[in-house]
Amino acid sequence: MKTANEREAELLASVPTGLLINGEWRNAASGKTLDVHDPATGTVLASIADASGEDAMAALDAACAAQASWARTAPRVRGEILRKAFELITERAEDFALLMTLEMGKPLAEARGEVAYGAEFLRWNSEEAVRDYGRFVTTPEGKNKILVAKKPVGPCLLITPWNFPLAMATRKVGPALAAGCTMVLKPAKLTPLTSQLFAAVMQEAGLPAGVLNVVAGSSASSISGPLLADPRLRKLSFTGSTSVGKQLMAAATENVLRTSMELGGNAPFLVFEDADLDAAVEGALAAKMRNMGEACTAANRFLVHESVATEFTAKLAARIGALTVGRGTEAGTDVGPLVEEKARANIHALVTAAVAEGATVLAGGNPVEGDGYFYQPTVLGNVANDAAILQQEIFGPVAPVTTFTDEDDAIQLANSTQYGLASYLYTKDFSRLLRVSEQLEFGMVGFNSGMISNAAAPFGGVKQSGLGREGGTEGIAEYTTTQYIGIADPYA
Ligand code: NAD
Repeated sequence: MKTANEREAELLASVPTGLLINGEWRNAASGKTLDVHDPATGTVLASIADASGEDAMAALDAACAAQASWARTAPRVRGEILRKAFELITERAEDFALLMTLEMGKPLAEARGEVAYGAEFLRWNSEEAVRDYGRFVTTPEGKNKILVAKKPVGPCLLITPWNFPLAMATRKVGPALAAGCTMVLKPAKLTPLTSQLFAAVMQEAGLPAGVLNVVAGSSASSISGPLLADPRLRKLSFTGSTSVGKQLMAAATENVLRTSMELGGNAPFLVFEDADLDAAVEGALAAKMRNMGEACTAANRFLVHESVATEFTAKLAARIGALTVGRGTEAGTDVGPLVEEKARANIHALVTAAVAEGATVLAGGNPVEGDGYFYQPTVLGNVANDAAILQQEIFGPVAPVTTFTDEDDAIQLANSTQYGLASYLYTKDFSRLLRVSEQLEFGMVGFNSGMISNAAAPFGGVKQSGLGREGGTEGIAEYTTTQYIGIADPYA
């Protein structure tokens, strides 16, 4: 029986440390390496190759060389490779979960949930690969014919964040492979190990060399810069902050790239006076505390009808105040560490400012002393509507509560943000759901549900939360282009 330390060491030793370029794991051209840390302890988990622009270009060369044959590979074959990868990840679910917990900090139970969610993008897209239909129609004039074909958009650059190390990669790689695209994947420097292991699984599943190339590195822009400047790249899919997304969109104009942007959020969580308050509190916990609040879909503002605000807030504070903070690897942990000290300091600054403006602390409110970047699960009441904590992504385990007077007020408050990703709505009134959803400027609405992510659903935002959708039948369309063939009257 191995000890936990031996198990961790064995897992870390199985993760490739090179850059994956044209089917080979290589050192960086510069010979440099990048350290990956455990945010619960600050210790170094592994050192991996640190890619530069030169490595990124070698990865693009490989992706371009593989593009034509991968596009011609039978959809069924592409689908079978994706399906095999789903099975391999499912078999190694415990390895993937532990690796994510080690490099990112989330509790193991949540990491297991992400493995299931992340792997599902491979299974879902294995099924989409063979059902990406075009169409054939007769023109309205009744003579000529119209043939509409789908084609892979071409070599892609996929850039992922650190908060969901597996799912953010599979959500892009799955549909890109299904559509027949080749790619360069650039994971976040804080959590590259999961992508390294995922790429190794894709190789084991039979993915040909050059189709998926992985270049992790300490300088993101020195990797993305030369790729975006190269006209052979045809698509950029980015998940991350709105500020970086805007810079990348600007750079993508040079070669008129197709772009998919999954950016930041500022999700309102609306609790109406007729809501089941206990269910709303449970939904709030899921929407707020999952991933330590480090999710683009995290409830960022609790907007509660004034008649039930006191009761809801007290129940929420009791539940959140009782959560167990600890290392993600420890049994019983509900809330792990934040990913780095900078993140924790930003969160504490938002809490401190809100309290200075009159908010009351009903639970938590401070960093946890000692090793790692832990923060107490926090509930703030009486938060002013113009407080900075309601305008910005908190990205931490802090729940600010404010009130509304009626439906119009709720909608107006919910929409008063430049973000438009997820929103949540608790009510028993189905007409209200339809009425309010229609007016909410958000790409997604959770109805009596604090968890909405699903591989079969179109995930994405409006306004400054992004462009395009991941998952559902919409996901693969981000990686295809349309070719129309006008056919002369076959009777002429
Ligand atoms: P980030 O924008 O700092 O980084 C995201 C990725 O972009 C990383 O791989 C990073 O290395 C890279 N990057 C950073 N600067 C770059 C540059 N100048 N050029 C090229 N690449 C660059 O975001 P993060 O801190 O890793 O992730 C948190 C953010 O991601 C939050 O805003 C969150 O809301 C958002 N997010 C959105 C979704 C979604 O689906 N909408 C999902 C998860 C996270």
